[in-house]
Amino acid sequence: MSRLFPAPVLDALAAAPDRVAFEHGPRVITAGRVLSAVRRITAAMKEAGLSRGSGVALVTATTPGAYAAHLAAHALGCRVAAFRPGWGEPQTAHALSLRMDAVVSDGTGPELPLRRGQRLLALGDMLSRKDDGAPITVNARADSIARLTFTSGSTGLPKACAQTSRAYGLAYDTSAWPPALTALMAGFERCLVYESLASPVMMTYLGRCLISGGTVVMPDGDPDPLRPAALERDRITATMMPPPRLHRLLGRLKDEPADLGSLRALVLGGAPASPTLLATAIDRLGPIIWQGYGQGEAGIIAMLTPIDMSAGILGAVGRPLPAVEVSIREGVIWVRSPHMMTGYWGDPMRTGEVLHDGWLNTRDVGHLDDAGYLHLTGRTRDIIIVGAEVCYAGAIERALSSHPSVAQAYVTGAPDPETGEAVHAFVVPTGSDVDRDALWAHARDHLSAAAVPRTITVVHDIPTTSAGKPDKPALLTLLGR
Ligand code: AMP
Repeated sequence: MSRLFPAPVLDALAAAPDRVAFEHGPRVITAGRVLSAVRRITAAMKEAGLSRGSGVALVTATTPGAYAAHLAAHALGCRVAAFRPGWGEPQTAHALSLRMDAVVSDGTGPELPLRRGQRLLALGDMLSRKDDGAPITVNARADSIARLTFTSGSTGLPKACAQTSRAYGLAYDTSAWPPALTALMAGFERCLVYESLASPVMMTYLGRCLISGGTVVMPDGDPDPLRPAALERDRITATMMPPPRLHRLLGRLKDEPADLGSLRALVLGGAPASPTLLATAIDRLGPIIWQGYGQGEAGIIAMLTPIDMSAGILGAVGRPLPAVEVSIREGVIWVRSPHMMTGYWGDPMRTGEVLHDGWLNTRDVGHLDDAGYLHLTGRTRDIIIVGAEVCYAGAIERALSSHPSVAQAYVTGAPDPETGEAVHAFVVPTGSDVDRDALWAHARDHLSAAAVPRTITVVHDIPTTSAGKPDKPALLTLLGR
C-alpha cells in the first residue's frame, strides 16, 4: 500500500533540508525550515487536544506557514477542511457546523462565527513557539476521512466532498503516477502557487512539486502574479490556471511582451478550454499546455497532454487515467475510481443523488471516442430550458467557439417572458472583434432554434469566481439583469 499523505512530502523535505522549498515574496524558506514549522504546529495542535479524527478548519491565506499547518493536521490524522476565500457568513457558518473541533486562522479570513467548544488556533502563535525537534509521525489511517474539499459553486452552500486518506494520498504516490504525470512533473522546477490551498489543484501540485525536488513560488500580496513580467521575473517553470486566466495572459502578452521561455508546463482545468484557445496558447508558448479534467467529488478523471495536442486533439479533455473507469450512461459521465470521495460529509441525501453502487455520477455530459478520448459537451446542472427544450450550455458554447473569430464562449440563461428562459451568449474574440453576422449565421447553422442565443455580447475579459471559473451570474449583469 502506498504511504499516506503527508509522508511522501515530509520525506522529500527531510531528504534535502538545505534546499529551497518555498520562495514567498522576498523570503526564502528551506525544506528544513518547513519541517521545523510542521513540528511547531503539530505540537501546538496536540496541546489543543487535536488527534486522529479531529476536524480542523483552515482559514488562511496562501503562505508556506499555512501549508505547514495542512501538513501538520494531516500528519496528526485529522479531517482537514480548507475554507474557500470569498465566502460570506452563510457559507462560513455552514462549514463550521461540519464537526470542526478547531479552526486555524492567520487573521486574513472572514469573521468566524465559532460554535461552542470550537478552538481558535492562531497560526502566527503556533509558528512562533519553540521547535522541540521531535520526529514527525504520520498518524493518518487509510480508511479515515483525511480531507473535505468544498465544491466551488458561487451560489448556495458549499458541499464538502470527503476523501479517505487512501484516496487523498494517491496523488502523491510517485509509483502510481502514469508516465505522462511523471513527464509533467519534470517541468516543476519553480512552480507558481497563487490560489487558495482549498483548491485541490493548487494543493496537489504544490505537494507534487516538493516531492519532485522543485521550489514553490508564492506571491506575497502581489495582486497580479500571472502578469507576464512577474512570471518572467520569478523564472516560473510551471503553474496551473483555469482557461479564462490563460486567455487573459495571452492577451496581455501582446501588450506587455515578456520572455516566458522559462515556462515548461501550464496545467489547465476547472472549466472548458476551446480548441481555439489551446491552439493559440501552443502557438505563443510552445507545446507546454496540459489539461486536467476532474471535480471535487471524483478527483482527477482525465488528462490531455502536449503530445495529444500536437497530434491535433484539441477538443477532448484527454484519456481517463489508468485507475479511473468511465461509463457513459444516457450521455452522462459516471466514474469509479480510487480517487473519488466517499460522499458529501454530513449529507447522506445529496450523497445518494450522485453515488450508486460504487459509481459516481459526475453530472457532466460527454462521450468517449474510438481512440479512448473523453469529450465533455455540457453539464446536467448547467442547462437552459427554452420553451420545452432542454439546452445544454456546454453544447452551445462549443458551437459558438468553433467559429474562427471566437476564442472562448460562455452562455447562460435568463428569464424570458415568451419562452420561460432564453439563452444569452458572451464571446471573447480571437482578434479585436467578431464578425457578428457571420457568428449569428454560424449559430443558426449549428444549433436548434431554441438554443440559438437571444443575445450575443462581445467581451474582452471574462469575470471569474474566486476559484477562477467563469462567473456566469456576473456575465448576466453585463446585460443589466
Ligand atoms: P469543481 O469540483 O469545482 O472543480 O468543478 C468541477 C467541474 O468543472 C467538472 O464537473 C466540470 O464540469 C468542470 N471541469 C473541470 N475540469 C474541466 C475541463 N478540463 N474541461 C471542462 N470542464 C471542466
